[in-house]
Amino acid sequence: MIDLRSDTVTRPSPAMLAAMTSAETGDDVWGDDPTVLRLQARVAEQAGKEAGLFFPSGTQSNLAALMAHCARGDEYIVGQAAHTYKYEGGGAAVLGSIQPQPLENSEDGTISLERVAAAIKPIDDHFARTRLFALENTIGGKVLPAAYVAEATQFAHGRGLATHLDGARVFNAVVDSNQSLMALTDGFDSVSICFSKGLGTPVGSVLVGSKALIGSAHRWRKMLGGGMRQAGVLAAACLYALDHNVARLADDHANAARLAAGLAQIDEVKVASQATNMVFAQFPQADCAPLEAWLKERGILTQMLYASRFVTHLDVSAADIDTFVAAVKGYFKR
Ligand SMILES: *Cc1c(COP(=O)(O)O)cnc(C)c1O
Repeated sequence: MIDLRSDTVTRPSPAMLAAMTSAETGDDVWGDDPTVLRLQARVAEQAGKEAGLFFPSGTQSNLAALMAHCARGDEYIVGQAAHTYKYEGGGAAVLGSIQPQPLENSEDGTISLERVAAAIKPIDDHFARTRLFALENTIGGKVLPAAYVAEATQFAHGRGLATHLDGARVFNAVVDSNQSLMALTDGFDSVSICFSKGLGTPVGSVLVGSKALIGSAHRWRKMLGGGMRQAGVLAAACLYALDHNVARLADDHANAARLAAGLAQIDEVKVASQATNMVFAQFPQADCAPLEAWLKERGILTQMLYASRFVTHLDVSAADIDTFVAAVKGYFKR
């Protein structure tokens, strides 16, 4: 199957599995797993932060970070389109007793700093205490403008807020913008990075930040059920991904551009945007369900909506993109 629904669908390659089966392990709840320790140290160093912490998922990594920054009754400012706000089951509110203050994202994924300024609550018993400003990079596949990130993080710190980056796909931003991970995470007090997206591991995220913040997140991770034992088998996949699957994200970006260019040739389809490994396109509403079924019969998995998202990854080749585009053309010509 050619699966364009997400970059989470990648399967571990034989070489990645070999790295996993030969991993040196220990009990990571006891801090004894050398492979986990190596991964945490490596990601922290590469991001220019003091410490790292391995999590089973990005959702849990983001949540533990929010809970480390914010206490009960505190508030975090976040984009309406942000994963932490919109796609994590409301965990910050449910499990953290943290009030989200969502603000509209602009087309480029930024949040206007005037709006942020207006949303920061005065210190007054009527209000939640605004503690944190969270951004996401990439967001909807788009790389946040570097100048904006620098301004936004300085602004937040100037107003006494901490800063968190949901960098689930920050390595896509690294490859696309040709900036270092350290440059992209500069200005953030914490950064969560997913290995189970374009980097192609079965599971795993790493949160980085100061020793104090990571110490606090470590306690929340245990409480949230994320303390894992011989997690080195999973961390080994992440180390393998750092060595082998970062530079190749450029192929995914080229394939996404190829997909967008292919769809743009079809009159019935309107390509809304393409950035890094994502393409957003609109299809006539009445065609969505039959087109999805048509593609599935031809071995192509998509989620066809009026505004559809296609995601490229290491299990999708340029030839697969051509197969997909030809199948969409075939549908509209039938
Ligand atoms: C996938 C993702 C996460 C975390 O997802 P998990 O499936 O819990 O690992 C967080 N933020 C963004 C932007 C994501 O795309």
